Formats: sequence, structure tokens, C-alpha cells
Amino acid sequence: MPDACPGSANAARADRRPEQGVAPQPACAAYARQFVEPGAVLNDWARIEPYYDLLRDRNIDEGDALERWLVDYGELAACIAEEGTDRHVKMTCQTDDPDRKAAFLDFIENIEPKCKPRNHELNVKHTQSPAAGALPKQRYRVLDRSIRSQVALFREENVALETEEAKLAQQYQQISGAQTVEFDGREQTLPQLARYAEEADRELRRRAWEVEAERRLKDAEALEEIFDRMVRLRHQMALNAGCADYREFAFRNRQRFDYTPQDCLAFHEAVERTVVPASRALERTRREALGLDPLRPWDLDVDLKGRPPLRPFATADELCSKVSKVFHRVDAELGGQFDEMHEQGYLDLESRKGKAPGGYQATYEASRHPFIFMNAVGVQWDVRTMIHEGGHAFHCYAARSSPIEFAEVASFGMELLALGRLDEFYRGDELARAKRTQLEGIIDLFPWVATIDAFQHFLYTHPDHTRKQRREHWLALRRRFGGIADYSGYEEALAYGWQRQLHLFEVPFYYIEYGIAKLGALQVWRNALEDHGAAVRRYRQALALGGSRPLPELFAAAGAAFDFSEGTLAPLIELVQQELDKLPL
Ligand SMILES: [Zn+2]
Repeated sequence: MPDACPGSANAARADRRPEQGVAPQPACAAYARQFVEPGAVLNDWARIEPYYDLLRDRNIDEGDALERWLVDYGELAACIAEEGTDRHVKMTCQTDDPDRKAAFLDFIENIEPKCKPRNHELNVKHTQSPAAGALPKQRYRVLDRSIRSQVALFREENVALETEEAKLAQQYQQISGAQTVEFDGREQTLPQLARYAEEADRELRRRAWEVEAERRLKDAEALEEIFDRMVRLRHQMALNAGCADYREFAFRNRQRFDYTPQDCLAFHEAVERTVVPASRALERTRREALGLDPLRPWDLDVDLKGRPPLRPFATADELCSKVSKVFHRVDAELGGQFDEMHEQGYLDLESRKGKAPGGYQATYEASRHPFIFMNAVGVQWDVRTMIHEGGHAFHCYAARSSPIEFAEVASFGMELLALGRLDEFYRGDELARAKRTQLEGIIDLFPWVATIDAFQHFLYTHPDHTRKQRREHWLALRRRFGGIADYSGYEEALAYGWQRQLHLFEVPFYYIEYGIAKLGALQVWRNALEDHGAAVRRYRQALALGGSRPLPELFAAAGAAFDFSEGTLAPLIELVQQELDKLPL
């Protein structure tokens, strides 16, 4: 189902950073290999295992030896992660290539499961080292906390379940990647159909919306089956680890040390009170401007004055050259980094059949370079995605790894820092339209984040729910957080709307991060409206800290408070409203 609300259209296409699933690395680890043989490709277990043996057998009783060992362990983890990233990238670029699929499955079936117990063994070794408690706190406290948390949660019997889960996620990708329709005289991917949502011709919009909804419903039962199996697997993993339910497991596994499920539930309520009314008011303005009553789901992305869609670029090359100029104007060094990525071929931007949906930035952990994956079709959303993933890529150059809540500050922050420089893509009233869409998207994002997050709180604290209860709960959340569009005649599409959110399948409980990070990014933007140069300096300094500090310190370094309560949310939404009021409709 497309476009349940404007935010959902955007949020559903939001990016995903692939999970690395291996040991954390100190942010300060060197680039050049010092442990794994330079040039060695860790593409099968026989090549990997000797390195684990060496680490297992090394004496780490002294502080210096332990520090060296942690760096080497981080390097091994990075080299293995890079192999997995490479196979994941290649598979998502062509999900219908059996060799790529086999290579990725080989990694998740034959390499990852063998690494996990060995990582656990090394993690235990670390916690038992007499030197662990005496390492320099500033540099190692976060890493040490992370390792201890992993040790506490690890269960040998979960390794096979995680492999099973990863294979189900791959099936979800394959089903999604194969979804195409005949429309407008040619076979098109669903991301390609997104273009029609902005067409002034209402009947054309309706037909495009309907054909997409019908196509998705064809796979609804298959996806229900995959999801049922995922929920069962996840609940079992939680029980195995001594957790009450998968929510508790996921919070511990995602190392959410700085917030609780209750904080998330409070955030849902704050969004309901503060943002949902603003979001519905925008839709009422839309309904009046368009003179349509009721507003239908295919009316949510069209221009308010019936102007033709913004077409900010025609080809991937044009997108790259324009976005390079935007980045150079935000910060000359960042612009240079983007040009380097482009020259080195770290971009796969255009939508085509067989490509997995969505967009993401992946990090090649060992060689420390980013990769950006997108399904660009020439719409404004693509410009935003490109800038967003660019923010992640700059983070990758600045530091090796970082918690997701802050990683999304890097990307959303970059979207907002770039907002005043979009004249590279748009002129005159097109520029105002682009800014309006982007600012409205911020307001629409929060209700969608609350919807997806609240849905998962329900699913995993009620692991025995039936498919019917799942649908009903979804629909109740849509009434609580959704917009005013009328879905009459398309009730099935509405009820299965959650299936288009890939995070639910592939990265459970990864969504609240977008809300938390958006609030960080809005604070960076508020600072930049005062003093662009100073705000960008702090942003870059914070990125360079990687994952070496707890979240509140990373946010503080960027000039933001780590807080997603109503007290922080309300004034930022007001700021967005004020900026919107300056723009013509
Ligand atoms: Zn992102």
C-alpha cells in the first residue's frame, strides 16, 4: 500500500544501514592492517579461524597487551564485516542474480554463525582480563560496556535462530525486489511508480496508486507467513536469553543504555499531543487548496496548486554533479569527500528491476569507505535521500562506527544543513515548493515513527497475537496517529500497510532512532540558522567521535540535547511551523 500518509511514503522509503553484527571497534583503530595479513580476503572460515585462534591464545593480563589485542580484534571484526557488507551490497544491487544470492547466503549460513561463538569467547576473555577494569576510561568505557552487555546476552542456541531470521529477511527482500507492474505501457518497479504520486492528473495518480496497492496485496499472504515465523523466532531468542519478551531482548541487544521502553511510550503520547494535530492541519490545508473532499490517499503528494512535479534531475550523473555543489557549499572538505566517492564508484543510484527496494549507506569497515545504494527515479525524494545518505557517508569517513541514534543525526542533520543550498536543483517558486515539502515531511515523520514503533511494542509484548489482532492493532494505530485521507474501498490495502515498512521485517525495533535523531538534527539546524559555520564545525567534531562516547555526550558535542520528551519536541515543531509560514503555498 503506498502513501498511507505523506510521512509514510517518505518513511517507508527511509534508509537502512545494514547491521554489522560483529564486535564493536574502538573509534580510534588504525586503517592500515596490522594483524590480518594485508591483502588477505576473509571469504571462508578456513581463512578466518586461525586469526581467532591467535587472539584466543594471546596473553592479555597487562594493559598494553589488552589494548593491542582490542585493536587487533577490532581489525579482524572489520575485515569479516567488510566481506559480509560486500556480499550484501552485491545481492541488493541484483536480487535476481542466483550467484549473488548464494554468496550472501553462504556468508549468513557458513561464516557468521561460526564467528559468533568465537566472538563470545573473545568477549569473555576480555571481561576476565585483570587489565580490563584499568583501561583508560575516556577511550574504553563505551567499548567495555558494550562487550559486557554482549557477553550477558549471548546464548549458543540463538546462533542458529539468528541465521534462520537472516534467511527470512533475505526472502522478504527477494519478494519485494520482484514486485513490478505493467503501467503506462511498460514494466515498472514500485519505486518507479512513486513518480506518479506527484502528477497533476488525478485519475493517473489514482490508477498508479491502485495498481501498486493491488500488486502488494498479491504478496500479502506470503509476507504474513514470513512475519509470523520471524515473530516466533524472535520471541524464542528472547526466552533463551532469559528475557521476558523480545522487546526486552531487542533493547538490550541494541544496547539502548540511555533510554527505556517507557521513554518510547511517552514519546508516542507526546507525538499524539504535539505533532498529530499539526500534521492533520497540514492535510486540511491541502484538502482546501486542492478543493477535494474527501482527500484520498493518492492526493497526498501532488502539488497544492496543480503545478507539474518537480523534476530536479534527469540522470544519476546530473544528480551527482548537483549534489556535489550542495555539499561543497555546506562544507568544502565534505564536498571533496563526496567527489572522491563518486570517482571511486561507491554509488549505485538508479532504480532497475531486481534491485532491492529503498536506499541505504553501507560501510566497508576495514578499508573504511562508504557505499550508497538508492532507487533514484528523478523526484525530489531522491535528492533528499542522496543528501541523507551522504551524511552517513561523511560519518563513515570521520569515524569507524557509531550508535544508530546518532548516526541518523549525521544524515538528517545534513538534510537540514543542505536545505538552504537546494537552489542547485531548484529556482524561484520551485525552491519554495521543495523546502515546503521537506519541512512538511519533518512534521509527518514523527507520527509515522510513533506508529511503527508502537506497533512493534505491541507485536513483541504480545507474541501470541493472531494475524487478525495484528491487523486490528495496526488499524487502531492508524486512527491514533494517521492523517485524514479516506481509504474507502481500499480497506485491505490500509490494513496491510505495515508490510511495506522493511524495518519491521529486517531490523526489528529499529525505527524510534529516526525520531530521536530527527530531534538532534533539528537542534543542529536551529544552531545553523544562527551561525552556519559554527554549527557545521560542531557537527563534524561530533561525527569524528564515532561510537566512543555515550549518546548524551555525542549529542552534546553536536550542540544538541539527547532528549525526546515533549519539552524538546514541542518547540522544535514550532520552529518548523514558523519556517513553513515564511513560504508561499
Ligand atoms: Zn539514515
